[in-house]
Amino acid sequence: MLPQAKSSHFTRLLIRHFHALVYHIGTSYTSPAIWREYWIPAGCAAISSVVTACQKCKRFTTRPFHQLDDSQLPSFHLEINSSPFKNVGVDTCGPLIVENSKSWIVIFVDLVGPTVDLEFLTDMTADELLHAFRRVAARHTLPSFIVSDNAKQFQLLSAILSATLSNDFVWKFIPDFSQWQGGVYEWQIKIVK
Ligand SMILES: [Zn+2]
Repeated sequence: MLPQAKSSHFTRLLIRHFHALVYHIGTSYTSPAIWREYWIPAGCAAISSVVTACQKCKRFTTRPFHQLDDSQLPSFHLEINSSPFKNVGVDTCGPLIVENSKSWIVIFVDLVGPTVDLEFLTDMTADELLHAFRRVAARHTLPSFIVSDNAKQFQLLSAILSATLSNDFVWKFIPDFSQWQGGVYEWQIKIVK
């Protein structure tokens, strides 16, 4: 008779030894091999837990990780016939120190094609952003769809644009703490930095 497996390291080692002797076949073969020579109190549960934890067995019994299917691309990435900068992602980076003063960069990323436009800001007010937006709109086209994070300046700019532009203008804010949803511009910002 052996001490209980949960209190005895020796018992656990012995179970492992017998489990290896039966070539790592499951509990139904390991148990009789042990019972022929030893008795372990509460043995079934102990043998089962040692066999379940066996690393060599895991290599054969573990099922492959199921890769999740890719989600559908959002529709605003797929408007192939839209003009450049009709659907844009907006983000800022900075501050950068340029000639001893702080500056920021606002990036406009075309959501359909891999095109970016950068604007230089001397401060991060909604006013400065509005000027940057007007310059970009003048160079390309007036965006009808914008996606960005929830920065206060963007919210303010969105309110200004919604009040002044036509109804078919949409500004989508990604949920807080979910930067991956703005992956398309976060990736470009990384390159700019
Ligand atoms: Zn095993």
